[in-house]
Amino acid sequence: MFYRSLSSLVFSNSIENKFKCIKKAIPLHVSLLAVSKNNSAKLIRQLSVIGQQSFGENRVQEAILKQDLLNDLTNLDWHFIGRIQSNKVRKIVIHFNTIHSVSNFSLVKQLHRIAIEENRKPEILLQIKLLSDQSKVGFSSKELLKSWHMLAALKPLNLIGLMIIAPLSTPSRDRRGLFVESRKLIQVLGLQKSSVGMSNDWREAIVEGSNCIRIGSALFGH
Ligand SMILES: *Cc1c(COP(=O)(O)O)cnc(C)c1O
Repeated sequence: MFYRSLSSLVFSNSIENKFKCIKKAIPLHVSLLAVSKNNSAKLIRQLSVIGQQSFGENRVQEAILKQDLLNDLTNLDWHFIGRIQSNKVRKIVIHFNTIHSVSNFSLVKQLHRIAIEENRKPEILLQIKLLSDQSKVGFSSKELLKSWHMLAALKPLNLIGLMIIAPLSTPSRDRRGLFVESRKLIQVLGLQKSSVGMSNDWREAIVEGSNCIRIGSALFGH
């Protein structure tokens, strides 16, 4: 008992403290997306009490369950960050304000059709893959530049930015290069939002221009 209260005093590693530390360390123009996948509605509620409103989920069913448990909190802002299965697009459009992980043209077209049918205007980020040899899904910068006119014309989709997931195995120097490349692409396309950086690389990502970091384990633990 004594040991436990002492260690919590010394390390103060409650979720509230981790949240405050991260908020203190990020510039005002950078938004923090708390990635709450695999974590409880109770922890989301705890964070919302101290000012966090944006939460990221990667599974539709899991997210909808939590949204139901938290439906008394009217200002929560839900982001979808997971692999999108085409049979889940409608639910994603209905239950999320922002979708970070749109990774191919057929998904864009489907989102466009369903957003119109559901009278929704989701914010869309396109997932890009900047390393040719990685297993990650996403648009290459070449195909994005080539079809940009077509994509940008798909109202009411609100195309606000790009998202990248740096492969874990990428050495720090190469990761930095990826971040720089995504910043250039965002500038060329005139987009506002750069969703780059997770628990292990958000500091580098911010230095290289990210304005939205997606933090899971550094907040909630592993
Ligand atoms: C899980 C996940 C995160 C958060 O990862 P951490 O390393 O735990 O911060 C961010 N983005 C995506 C797309 C994820 O799936």
